[in-house]
Amino acid sequence: MAGPTILHVDLDAFFAAVEQRDRPELRGRPVIVGGGGPNDRGVVSAASYEARAFGVHSAMPLRTAGALCPRGVFLPVDGAKYQRVSRQVMAILRRFTPRVEPVSIDEAFLDVAGSEALFGDGETIARAIKDAIRSELELTASVGVAGTKLVAKIASDLRKPDGLVVVPLGEEAAFLAPLPMARLWGVGPQTRLALADYEVRTIGDLAALPADVLVRRLGQHGAELAARARGIDPSPVSDGADPKSVSHEHTFTVDTHDPDEIERTLLALAEGVGGRLRASGLRAATISVKVRDEHFETRTRQRTLEEPTDQTETIWRTALELARPEVRGRTIRLLGVGASHFGERQQLGLFETGDERRRRVTEAADEIRRRFGSRAITRARLLGSRVAEPFERDPMTAPDARRVGRVRRDPGADGSA
Ligand SMILES: [Mg+2]
Repeated sequence: MAGPTILHVDLDAFFAAVEQRDRPELRGRPVIVGGGGPNDRGVVSAASYEARAFGVHSAMPLRTAGALCPRGVFLPVDGAKYQRVSRQVMAILRRFTPRVEPVSIDEAFLDVAGSEALFGDGETIARAIKDAIRSELELTASVGVAGTKLVAKIASDLRKPDGLVVVPLGEEAAFLAPLPMARLWGVGPQTRLALADYEVRTIGDLAALPADVLVRRLGQHGAELAARARGIDPSPVSDGADPKSVSHEHTFTVDTHDPDEIERTLLALAEGVGGRLRASGLRAATISVKVRDEHFETRTRQRTLEEPTDQTETIWRTALELARPEVRGRTIRLLGVGASHFGERQQLGLFETGDERRRRVTEAADEIRRRFGSRAITRARLLGSRVAEPFERDPMTAPDARRVGRVRRDPGADGSA
């Protein structure tokens, strides 16, 4: 029988391990990467396993780490170096399949279905990847192999460092059952509160609850949770061609503080982002704005919506609210609007008819734009606008398209880095 083919590869204590590799005198010592040392106001980006033995972990205030581990070696974050090593890691992964989905600087999902004839089954490929990372980069990685991304990710975390955990197909629910509920995606304080009446400690306890209880208590989230507790996760490993974010930006010819011009520009940018999402069949859960003033000071803000969207109006309104406090009293040089955290496009439900009409209109406009160019259709709002060319470059190749995506992949926030 065929085995599982989804791999989650996660480097162990990545930043700290890179430092220990490059400076042999640090091997075996507690290394804490982040900010300017134990008196800095920042947080720990990564801790070596020697430091973790003192209770130090990532996202902990550096001062706390200093108190717990006074003899620790504190190092600043060398982002450029970690990026370089990250690219080497991803290049190794891509030797085994083009279907590599990086999720952070030191983590990626792979789908190796289709690579088995060349390289062997999922477990064999996982071992080959671990060997290559060890011999070529002198680093260790932990790998989970399973039938879904959700289970592969939990599996990779289970035997760190240098772990390899394979969950055979059909055994997902049994594998998850004894694990604490907090290991599941989407289980936070709110979920725990909503389920406080029930004895739910493990994922198995959660799976044993009737699905309608979860739905009643948590709505749509409850339905997803019921599926996840059984190891069900329909999200595919997206190959490199799929965008992680879409963004458009505009640099004003003359810096402006005119609220109307700012508003119109945000609408044009939102329209660009929305059109791009709809063309790709994607909806985004997170909307972000970028505001750069005349002094080149750049601020970004983002918000996660209650429901993912591909609608210009929603993107625009969100962008307006996010931008408003950032543009007030400033002269603006550049504006950007971005969308990220994509879900699969859902089928239109029977009860979405109200929305459907607007969607049809939007889709018709998209079609005309595809055929006749992006300025063939311009919302009435934009008429008379001085924004002659709001889409100044291809957002998918612009460096800023990636910058927005990076907001959520801040390596410092990666608990397992
Ligand atoms: Mg890691």
